[in-house]
Amino acid sequence: MNLHEYQGKELLKSYGVAIQNGIVAETVEQAVEAFKTLQEETGTKFGVVKAQIHAGGRGKGGGVKLAKNMDELKEHAGNILGMMLKTPQTPGGLDGPGKLVRKVLIGEDVYAPDFDACKEFYISVLMDRERKQNVIVYSTEGGMDIEEVAEKTPHLVKKEYIDPMLGMQPFQMRKIAFNLGLSGKAFKEMAKFIASLYKAFVGADASMFEINPALRTGDDRIVAVDCKVSLDDNALFRHPDLAAQRDTDEEDPTEVEAKSYGLNFVNLDGNVGCMVNGAGLAMATMDIIKLSGGEPANFLDVGGTADAARVEQAFRIILRDPNVKAILINIFGGIVRCDRVAQGVVDAYKNMGNINVPIIVRLQGTNADIAKKIIDESGLEVRSAILLQEAADLVKKVVAN
Ligand code: GDP
Ligand code: MN
Repeated sequence: MNLHEYQGKELLKSYGVAIQNGIVAETVEQAVEAFKTLQEETGTKFGVVKAQIHAGGRGKGGGVKLAKNMDELKEHAGNILGMMLKTPQTPGGLDGPGKLVRKVLIGEDVYAPDFDACKEFYISVLMDRERKQNVIVYSTEGGMDIEEVAEKTPHLVKKEYIDPMLGMQPFQMRKIAFNLGLSGKAFKEMAKFIASLYKAFVGADASMFEINPALRTGDDRIVAVDCKVSLDDNALFRHPDLAAQRDTDEEDPTEVEAKSYGLNFVNLDGNVGCMVNGAGLAMATMDIIKLSGGEPANFLDVGGTADAARVEQAFRIILRDPNVKAILINIFGGIVRCDRVAQGVVDAYKNMGNINVPIIVRLQGTNADIAKKIIDESGLEVRSAILLQEAADLVKKVVAN
């Protein structure tokens, strides 16, 4: 689950990470009030208006604007609220439709009084699965596209791995601050910033923090100007306060619906829909689809209780994708019996009535032979297979047509 910038900043602040202060607003009137309050509380002269969507690169698309007075603030807030913001990270990129902006964050100008006296850094925290360690990735080249920095000047992106047993060590914070070229007060502030940031990462069970830029201000403070926060869904039950901040407006509507049915679903770009029980089998199924010349249209794990109702919900969700040319159902009957699943497929198919893509069903395990019979005798446009290879061959045939 991803947080908005304003939510992520509140989370960081609660762990003692210094942030660019701001107030979120949904209307121009609220933005005006927010700017007034911010000016009183922080003494800031200028305000920055920042679109709140789950995508980075907002500045490039006109979603981050500096306002030098109330008139400019009104103008920027008016323009940004309700706009379809296109950034390199919104669906379809700069050529796509963009994302509707429903909220703006009004921020204090932390670059004042002298923009050029400030320095932007890049700092992120993530999990390196191969090394089974959290890692802090950092660079002196902050504020810009880090992927580009990594590609053109890889030596400017540095990594510090954190031992999970020992946690973040003081020498590591100092090493990072040193490598970022800091000294004196800014050096100390950066070490503190890194320590609090890592505490927040572990404390919130996050899977990714990206602070770009982390700013060294003119008076040598270190401040998070931007933040992207992804939380580990599997640990959200430990953080009901964070779970409550989910913004489903920002998520794929099909994925949101699937979740409400208890289906584990991820939308993909391909043309073969799949319905599988168990995540491992789902991965293997996506592999055979690829080997057969198709591309999976989704990842879908229906879980251990694949009854007719669930199969139907899963069907509906898969069929909503116009790219789907075929559906491969691959169920292993261990706890659930294959004949029950087969009956579920047949019932769902009849209930829905208008399925016009070929369906290939591979049922293996308890009562697989009865299941095959049920499908073969149903008179429906459903092809059954027992072996994975048979299923793969059928997919190949369908995709080739
Ligand atoms: P992103 O484009 O989505 O990554 O949004 P950011 O929050 O990183 O902001 C983009 C850029 O806007 C920053 O790199 C700054 O150059 C600028 N910016 C953000 N906040 C301020 C601010 O308080 N004052 C000034 N002058 N510029 C800001
Ligand atoms: Mn940024």
